[in-house]
Amino acid sequence: MAVVSVLLPLPLPEAFDYVVPPELTLGLGDVVEVPLGQNLRIGVVWAVKPDSDGSNLKPVKSRFDSPAFSPALRQFIDFAARYLVTPPGQVLAMVLRQPEALGPGPFERLAVATSLRPEKLNEARARVLAYAQEPIPRAALAKVAGVGSGIVTALLKLGALEEIERPVDLPFDPPDPHLPARPLSEMQADAAHLIAKAVRAGGFSPFLLDGVTGSGKTEVYLEAVAQALIARPDEQVLVLLPEIALTQAIVARFEQRFGATPAQWHSDIGAAQKRRTWREVAAGRARIVIGARSALFLPFAKLSMILVDEEHDSSFKQDDGLRYHARDMAVARAKFEQATIVLGSATPSMETRLNAEAGRYQRLLLSSRYGVALLPEVSLIDLKEYPPERDQWLSPVLVQAMAETLKAHEQILLFLNRRGYAPVVLCRKCGHRMKAPDTESWLVEHKYSNRLVCHLTGFSMRKPDACPTCGAADGLVSVGPGVERIAAEATERFPGARIEIFSSDTAHNPQAVRELVGRMERGEIDVLIGTQIVAKGHNFPNLTLVGVVDADLGLKGGDPRAGERTYQMLSQVAGRAGRADRPGRALIQTHYPDNEALQALVMGDRDAFIEAESLGRAAVGAPPFGRMAALHIMAQTDEAADAAAQAASDALFPADGVEVWGPAPPPLAMIRGWRRRRFLIQSSKEVDLSAFMAAWRRGFRVPGSVRVSIDMDPYSFL
Ligand code: ADP
Repeated sequence: MAVVSVLLPLPLPEAFDYVVPPELTLGLGDVVEVPLGQNLRIGVVWAVKPDSDGSNLKPVKSRFDSPAFSPALRQFIDFAARYLVTPPGQVLAMVLRQPEALGPGPFERLAVATSLRPEKLNEARARVLAYAQEPIPRAALAKVAGVGSGIVTALLKLGALEEIERPVDLPFDPPDPHLPARPLSEMQADAAHLIAKAVRAGGFSPFLLDGVTGSGKTEVYLEAVAQALIARPDEQVLVLLPEIALTQAIVARFEQRFGATPAQWHSDIGAAQKRRTWREVAAGRARIVIGARSALFLPFAKLSMILVDEEHDSSFKQDDGLRYHARDMAVARAKFEQATIVLGSATPSMETRLNAEAGRYQRLLLSSRYGVALLPEVSLIDLKEYPPERDQWLSPVLVQAMAETLKAHEQILLFLNRRGYAPVVLCRKCGHRMKAPDTESWLVEHKYSNRLVCHLTGFSMRKPDACPTCGAADGLVSVGPGVERIAAEATERFPGARIEIFSSDTAHNPQAVRELVGRMERGEIDVLIGTQIVAKGHNFPNLTLVGVVDADLGLKGGDPRAGERTYQMLSQVAGRAGRADRPGRALIQTHYPDNEALQALVMGDRDAFIEAESLGRAAVGAPPFGRMAALHIMAQTDEAADAAAQAASDALFPADGVEVWGPAPPPLAMIRGWRRRRFLIQSSKEVDLSAFMAAWRRGFRVPGSVRVSIDMDPYSFL
């Protein structure tokens, strides 16, 4: 009797055995339906045991026609589960997110013209037949032809139209890699050539595409993709982006280059689109997929190349549910797929740089901007020396530069990574700070919606008229600026200027993003005031002044990557200026003009900064020179949280090269009523930290009401 182990997309420790009924033949990776308790579940055949005793096992119910999971995909799932210290079913759940894509349907009925022409071919009928040369739904046909449904029915009866049934999910149009490309600069051509060579040779080859902002990394990607499509006509390419806001621009450039819209995968496409993408990816027909981090878990039939744009971006790290870093997992997936992977950035992460320096990744350099564009000139505004006026946030130096830019009919970007009007609201009588009821965070004032909002949980309330603690009327004051407040200040200063805010509040979906970006590109906006959403990717040729309102924001807090992140963010933002023939400049407001990251920006000396940052991190064994993990405990009461933390502490065992700090409440000690405790774990590179964490986790139990989660390579320390 044949028995198979079936992995289910559930947090179970292992795959379950089922007997294969005589009418089925099953192989590794087949997608099947099996009984579990009272229900039927979808799972994947993880092992086949040909001659086993299956007499006391339940039988597999059925097999889906959907293609079997490739060996590379199965290996990747097992690897990710082990590395992330999570049950493999949890990773499988990321892959099996579109169960509707497994079956054959849905189908739609369409009308299409036959070769038969009715004798009485009046004008209306002829129009209907003309519109029905391609299959079209009946209702839509009547509508476009401007006739009643009776005429369509009559033509069907006469045999001049026939009805066909067609799957709703059509294949994506194949991209044409032979369409003419823009001529590449020598540097671009060299980089694309080396990537293409690796794709042709096959096997795992990782690259770092290290190119300053505006150097034309996208053109290199396009050329590399074209070469991959040609060299491996049956294989697929995945492009990962950190931010949905960037997809539209990239999709448009791929469309232009290959004459077909690529498949997309991100949270903003609907279920039907996801089903189509999933199905076409699994079948190997979707050749180019552009997506956010979870696209990494699509069931590609065979990948030849992965591109990770803005690889340094911390949005690639997912911090809830399955905690993974999409860049790191993409490298792992490329390894199993024996694919080429290109990590592109103007400010590569320390992790990636270290890999390039050690020779594990091949480094491709684009050291200057494309064409005549020059990198912007960066200078600091010392806020101690040139402070803004009372209750204002723009220093006279920045205001002056803005006036000059507006006079020259050029555009301005003011950057402040804070949504809303003011980050804190407090009572000037009693000092009470407005806080979320169940979360340890200050409420952010939003003037446009006139609400106080918790950005962590989405909780919001109307701004009260009086202080809820002391009752003082008019006691509540807004402290500090958000983008709305900067917009108010700019409007006051430059009443004639067209000023807009670009944040996730004003551009909440790709369409809104596209609209705002379009207006900026067409010169309909003079001053754009934005959060990190504007920092990346966009290309505004007439933008010549970037003002950073508060460079010090990211420097606070206990994050070991604070300096690196500030550097990356600010050089991305500054990089928006002067991307065409007009030179750009960036003015950065700070209280710490001596800060190394800021000095490096002014000097344009990235490498000196990285060098200093490396030495600092290497000295304390911080990532990427050592490994890090976090263990989080969440409970409904402080007592339960402390008891679970104690149990975890008691289960700790000494291990060479491993250090554990905690338990301690993290800065956000409560989220939605959940009390939090945290351990931070650091080890040397040689230690298998995943194995240590797994062994530790097995060593203690907590009540069902307590949540324990492990975060390998944590990026958030809140
Ligand atoms: P990056 O992603 O490296 O910041 P982009 O790919 O956005 O840079 O390119 C910057 C600008 O230069 C864009 O406007 C792009 O169209 C232009 N550009 C880059 N390479 C070429 C090329 N080979 N031919 C024409 N224009 C190019």
